[in-house]
Amino acid sequence: MRRFRIRLTSRYLRWQVLLPLTALLAILLAWLLVSSPVEIGIAHTAAPSSVVLAESVSSSPLRVAFLDVGQGDAILVRSPDGRTMLIDGGDSDEDTDKVILPTLEAWGVQALDLLVITHPDQDHIGGLPYLLQSFPVDRVVLTGQVHTTQTYEQMLTLIRDKGIPAIKARRGVLLDLDPSLVLRVLGPDDAAVERNDTNNASIVIRLTYGRISMLFTGDAEEPEEREILESGEEVRAHVLKVAHHGSPSGSSKRWLQAVAPEVAIISVGADNPFDHPGYKVLTRLTQFNVTTYRTDRHGTITIRSDGNTYQVFTQR
Ligand SMILES: [Zn+2]
Repeated sequence: MRRFRIRLTSRYLRWQVLLPLTALLAILLAWLLVSSPVEIGIAHTAAPSSVVLAESVSSSPLRVAFLDVGQGDAILVRSPDGRTMLIDGGDSDEDTDKVILPTLEAWGVQALDLLVITHPDQDHIGGLPYLLQSFPVDRVVLTGQVHTTQTYEQMLTLIRDKGIPAIKARRGVLLDLDPSLVLRVLGPDDAAVERNDTNNASIVIRLTYGRISMLFTGDAEEPEEREILESGEEVRAHVLKVAHHGSPSGSSKRWLQAVAPEVAIISVGADNPFDHPGYKVLTRLTQFNVTTYRTDRHGTITIRSDGNTYQVFTQR
């Protein structure tokens, strides 16, 4: 009877010790895989949100890459369940060929679930005709704004010819990508699209994953920022994609105050002819104590989040 009791205790103890130990090893392995900076460069820890990373890391976190496409935008999002969304497609075929397609391949993406076209300017759609010709896209999200450039018309023709369903983005629309994410369109509204000012009818999206939020702003300027604020939409975000490559036409004081970001990402080309990012915007970000990353200096900037915390990785 006594021996039985001892054996029972020792087996119980073995489980008591082995199970947590195995779990601990698994967490450690997952942490190493997730936090390894080898793939994308130097790891920057964005305080204070990432201090509890080790406790809450998930094996399939949200991944958002602000791709270095020079003077333009291309943002790739991979959701926790492996869905993908591309927001804009750079300026040229070369951006698609050298940056977007290799990243999709490196991430093992077979098809884009959503392609968001924030507005019809060349530096956001230039790489899209080539992308649409060479990569499967399930759905596109656009404003439907009238714009008569060759690239825009070529892109719309490809979308129509391939029969890709299009979602009209307007304030309040929820984009369906992954049940664990909320993707809410904050702008534009009908009136903004009808004004035919491309930048100020940019699709602005707020992404929420657990406790973490990010704001993608296209090339919105002060007028669209003001309209969004006046609409009463929630704009607060940990991570802000600075609108319009850091142009002083956007990122107003009121906007930055309301968004209150911890981290700002500026997608911008080195020595661009527009003097982006503007000195005023950079100063304002510093005044608001925002940690700023720029694709011209840091290369592609990647953020990973488990919904509780996030980390910023840079290519250089
Ligand atoms: Zn732009």
